[in-house]
Formats: sequence, structure tokens, C-alpha cells
Amino acid sequence: MLTKFRGLSHREALIFKGTKRWAEFSPFIEYSDQEASNWLAAAVSFANQDLPKLHRDTVGVNATLPAVGPDQVEAVLSKFGEFSTVKIKVAEVEQTLINDIARVLKVTSSYPDVRIRLDANGNFSPEKALELLAQIPLDRLDYFEQPCASINELVELRTTIKHLGLKVLIAADESIRKASDPIEVAQRQAADIVMLKVQPLGGIERSLEIARQTGLRTVVSSALETSIGLSQGAYLAAALPELDFDCGLGTLSLMESDITLEPLKPVAGRITPREIEPDAALLQKYQASPERTKWWLERLERCFDLLEA
Ligand SMILES: [Mg+2]
Repeated sequence: MLTKFRGLSHREALIFKGTKRWAEFSPFIEYSDQEASNWLAAAVSFANQDLPKLHRDTVGVNATLPAVGPDQVEAVLSKFGEFSTVKIKVAEVEQTLINDIARVLKVTSSYPDVRIRLDANGNFSPEKALELLAQIPLDRLDYFEQPCASINELVELRTTIKHLGLKVLIAADESIRKASDPIEVAQRQAADIVMLKVQPLGGIERSLEIARQTGLRTVVSSALETSIGLSQGAYLAAALPELDFDCGLGTLSLMESDITLEPLKPVAGRITPREIEPDAALLQKYQASPERTKWWLERLERCFDLLEA
């Protein structure tokens, strides 16, 4: 990673080729086998199944701003090239509300034409989230992603937002890890939008089914994948019948490199879904140590057993 993101300074991924194409299995290290097996279901389906019917040729993507100081904002965002939406990380460890506000205001003043969205990864209380919302230009805000951790808190925050007459949409991200979660979020009216991440939700078909079942608006986001994992997310985004927002699929710009010579990077703020071929020299360059390789292969076997069970 170019900047620490989600507490990570590097990313590990297992990639493999199925009968149809290359696929990526890259659950975060701390995830349980049970959870990781959904990621494997996604990878196996992408490797071996036909691509979905697409509703659009290209997908708009947002830039992503980690919890950096206001003085670093332009340097980090310049890596994204053209963009019309910036997702701003807030509420990270060691960051005060004052830092968060300064970061948001730096973006809105330096980029007067871009839309913003906030992502707190569940780290705010409803009160803190409201404090932040009170101090930023809400007419620039697409939505606030996972302001609080629990569904109860999200419901509480949405109720207060309505009482105050604010126009703020709430998106659920971490609240959605398994396939049944989006339905609960929708039923309890805890969010207006659900983030779809293709690996944790178990693949393109399952994600499309979840979008149908919730009836909520959707945004597709990456899980900090290589171009191979990102391409699966891009096919999902292009296959959704409706898509109103830029997607979080521009995350390669947060990384130092990739394992293909033709990375799935946005052109003029949009990406075009396509299949990705890894490059042998880059694979060799970024090959994991024997210990990490062994760990991943053992994890793969355990998760595969769970798939079959
Ligand atoms: Mg998020």
C-alpha cells in the first residue's frame, strides 16, 4: 500500500486460473474460515462461470482519501487522475473530529465540483456522526457510509437525521458481511444504500440476488484487491440493473503495484470491465514467502472443505 489503509501496509492475495479466467481469493488475514469461504465461493464462480449480462459498458469510480492531514490531500488525490467523487475516510484511530472536519473541508474547498462521501467504518457514535455532519457542506454529500457499528445505532442516527430534516443518506458496509445481512438492514430501515462487495457476498450472481431482495440502492466497492479481484467487482457493477453512484473500484491507486501489465485503472474516472491476465515477472516479483504461501494454501483447503460441506 502507498499509504496505510484499513491499518494495512501491504496486501496478500491468492490468485488462480479456473476453466474460464483468472480469479482472486483475498479475504483479510484476520477473517475466519467460515467468512473466508464466501470469498472463495466468489472466486471459484468467477473462475469457472459465464460472465453476467451487462447493463452498461463502463462504471464511474470514486477517488479514495485515507485519513491523511489536510496538507497531504492534494498529493494523495492526484494519484487518482480524473474523478468526480471522493470517498473520505473519517473516524480512524488517532484522528480527532477536528482532523476529520479539516480533511473534509480541504476536499470541498480544493475541488469545488466533486461530490463527497464519508466512511467511518462504524467508528462513530450517532452523536459524533451528527457533530461531523453539522460542520460540513451537506449539499456536497452523496452519503455517509457506516457511520456507526451496530444496526441499532444506524437506526437511531437515521431517525434523528429525519427529525432534524437533514438530507443525508446512510450506506451500510460493515453491517453487510454475510448474504442475509442486507435483508436485515433493509427490513429495519437502517440504511438507504447497501455497499456490495463481490467477494464477501459470494460472487456476482449472489450479489445481484441480494440487490434484488433488499430493494435498496447499491454501490459496488472493492476489498482492496488486485486488478483480478477488481475486475469481478467491475462486472458486478456493470451487471446491476440500476446504478446511481460512482463505485469504489478505483483502489489500485492506493497500491504501489499490481500483478498485471494492464491494471484495471480508471480512464477519465471510469473503468471498463475486462478479464485480466497476470504477468509472470510481476507474479515472481511479488511472490509471497514460503511461510505465507503455506498459510494461504492451508487456508484455501479449509475454506474449500467448508464450501463442499
Ligand atoms: Mg466502507
